[in-house]
Amino acid sequence: MDLEFGAADEEFRAEVRAWLAEHVPAEPLPSLETEEGFARHREWERTLGADRLSVVSWPREHGGRGVSVLQWLVFEEEYYAANAPGRVSQNGINLLAPTLMKHGTPEQLARVLPPMAAGEVIWAQAWSEPGAGSDLAALRATATRTDGGWLLNGQKTWSSRAAFADRGFGLFRSDPESERHRGLTYLMFPLDAEGVTVRPIGRLDGKPAFAELFLDGVFVPDADVIGEPGKGWNVAMSTAGNERGLTLRSPGRFTAATERLVELWKERADPSDTALRDRVADAWIRSRAYRLKGFETISRDDDIGAESSLNKIFWSDLDVALHETALDLLGADGELESEWLENYVFSLAGPIYAGTNEIQRNVIAERLLGLPRGAR
Ligand SMILES: Cc1cc2nc3c(=O)[nH]c(=O)nc-3n(C[C@H](O)[C@H](O)[C@H](O)COP(=O)(O)OP(=O)(O)OC[C@H]3O[C@@H](n4cnc5c(N)ncnc54)[C@H](O)[C@@H]3O)c2cc1C
Repeated sequence: MDLEFGAADEEFRAEVRAWLAEHVPAEPLPSLETEEGFARHREWERTLGADRLSVVSWPREHGGRGVSVLQWLVFEEEYYAANAPGRVSQNGINLLAPTLMKHGTPEQLARVLPPMAAGEVIWAQAWSEPGAGSDLAALRATATRTDGGWLLNGQKTWSSRAAFADRGFGLFRSDPESERHRGLTYLMFPLDAEGVTVRPIGRLDGKPAFAELFLDGVFVPDADVIGEPGKGWNVAMSTAGNERGLTLRSPGRFTAATERLVELWKERADPSDTALRDRVADAWIRSRAYRLKGFETISRDDDIGAESSLNKIFWSDLDVALHETALDLLGADGELESEWLENYVFSLAGPIYAGTNEIQRNVIAERLLGLPRGAR
């Protein structure tokens, strides 16, 4: 097994590192969960997009550079190591775009992807409803046939960044007689359309990281249906695989954070506190294990399927553990270290979003291990 990067990969790494050194803002941007921070992060997306660095593995015609997945992992390592700003366009880039690439029409790809890559249009995911989170198939928001399109009605919730985003994508029940996974349609819609009310929801720290969406007769043209009407569940499942797989949380995020944790330990820890030292080492080792697993995943040609649930549990547990360790290390100062604190608050949500870890454990038990289905 050859674990060395090739010359082209190293060249790409050097180019990305130099670009980041020149462009990453010296001061961290304000939180992207605030209006000002959102606007600053959108500007940053434009800066990335202008040099085709917002979506490096996409084809050039959609705004990318057409590099390999391995080089995308290299890009991510450099990105997080440079402590570059969080990606405000991640829902569009990581969730909607792969779905469109698999199920969208050429017209949709040409219309939606370049402005997404350029940071011009920021997308929000509108899947969850008050009665449909883990049990997504229980969703009740409807899409009703009308001349030339559909009318959307109902409520969506927990839509990240919808407080400031431009457009949403979600699943709607288009056959009123249908139940569960049948009769659903996957649609895109503008958040400023007539009939859409966006009500921000405050996070633990009060920042409006999410919104509820109330849809009252919102018109969506046929051109904004993704895949076949009525087959939205199949379309959605390809998005979910991406959400839990490598693309949402690449290893670079954790290797960079654990490097910083080691630095923090060297600067601040009492060396005789071996329990804390072991937790730092454990987080560092786990981030490296996830990195190796990432390389193993991309070296395979097949879709990782239910294995994406293993990934999701692994990175979300690691994220909580490493941030808890950082705050324990900082002690009372933790409250003043806003970056560690903000990332800690966000890490707490990792075991919930992208499908809760309890649900992922069900998937692993039933689909990977072949254990009998538990009582529901
Ligand atoms: C930070 C964050 C960002 C989010 N962003 C978005 C977004 O952008 N768009 C969007 O659409 N949604 C988003 N969500 C919503 C998220 O997808 C849901 O919170 C998640 O699917 C869980 O659904 P729920 O909150 O309704 O909890 P419930 O489904 O009500 O679950 C409550 C508890 O019961 C457990 N449980 C439920 N069913 C089972 C079962 N069968 N077996 C074992 N345990 C079970 C769950 O694991 C959980 O612990 C986000 C959530 C968070 C926290």
